[in-house]
Amino acid sequence: MPALPNGVLRSKLAGALPEETRFDTGPEDVHPALASVPGVGRVRFYLWTVTPDRSAKGARPAGEHKIQLILPGQKKRTKASLETQGAYTVLLGYSAEFGVFVAWEAPLYQQFAYSPNVQCREELLREARGTGWAVAPPRRAEEVRVAFSAGNLPHFLRTSRAADERGLKGQWREAHFLAQTPNAKAPLPTRAKDLEEYVEKQRERVAATRLVRDGKFSALVRKEYDYACAVCTLQLEITEGAHIIPVREKGSSDKVWNGIALCPNHHELFDGTAFVVNPELQVRVDRARVDYLRENDPAQGIEILTDFDGERIRAPRFWESNAEYRESMIRALSHRAAAAGIA
Ligand SMILES: [Zn+2]
Repeated sequence: MPALPNGVLRSKLAGALPEETRFDTGPEDVHPALASVPGVGRVRFYLWTVTPDRSAKGARPAGEHKIQLILPGQKKRTKASLETQGAYTVLLGYSAEFGVFVAWEAPLYQQFAYSPNVQCREELLREARGTGWAVAPPRRAEEVRVAFSAGNLPHFLRTSRAADERGLKGQWREAHFLAQTPNAKAPLPTRAKDLEEYVEKQRERVAATRLVRDGKFSALVRKEYDYACAVCTLQLEITEGAHIIPVREKGSSDKVWNGIALCPNHHELFDGTAFVVNPELQVRVDRARVDYLRENDPAQGIEILTDFDGERIRAPRFWESNAEYRESMIRALSHRAAAAGIA
């Protein structure tokens, strides 16, 4: 599957970073892009498109996604390496399907042959789409991969740099990223023998927080929208409350102003930022990604999304009655749209 155009990748990166970020490389440069990020410092981003891995049948377990590392100008059968000097360096992928970033460990790619596949499991992307932050157990006891929503990129950069400064590897690194789950932070254990149990407990705790939060939140939000999907107006028991700012992202809340009632289809598409809702309550479809998916994958029926581009969603009850909630919702919508790189 071909890659997203570099300009699109770069706009996703810029959207996910603070507004004051200054880029030193051109708007088409993503292998690498160099930038000064407020609160982080100089960062070198290597960013590729995450695509489903459709290599030879049976060769790999299903449900893998990958990026392919090829540096500009690198010839077949030649080796290359990621530059890691002079700036904090991260290796990222962006999934056109899931609308999330994935991070691998750049220092592990000091020498690579032409176009190696660097992989992650689909569950990781799925979890990050639904919650904003997901950590995979280390592969081959070594590499820890983290997937996150665009709004969590700055948090990822700080967390990753802290892990590198402390020399955390393998399960310690996994524990560190779990401990730094936004809105569910916890201290790291001090003894190595507690690590295994800690990781297990932490995973359960983070998952449980989400389930409890989702249940109550969904009931509140659905009522506020008369139990109908705010986009397509489908009014059935299957409508759900979607978080505007994901549960594992700074600024998230379980107040109704952070919610939109959606049918399951529109909920998944909204979580993956295939569309956002702007402060005027209009649907804004991520055209660049939808066009890409249409060209590269069967995407029949995508009109359930594109038909609503520019349409105004059904407003929640509080929109007219509670100015404070309306303002909070507008802030949440603007934040999400900006981070997703959709104006
Ligand atoms: Zn719907």
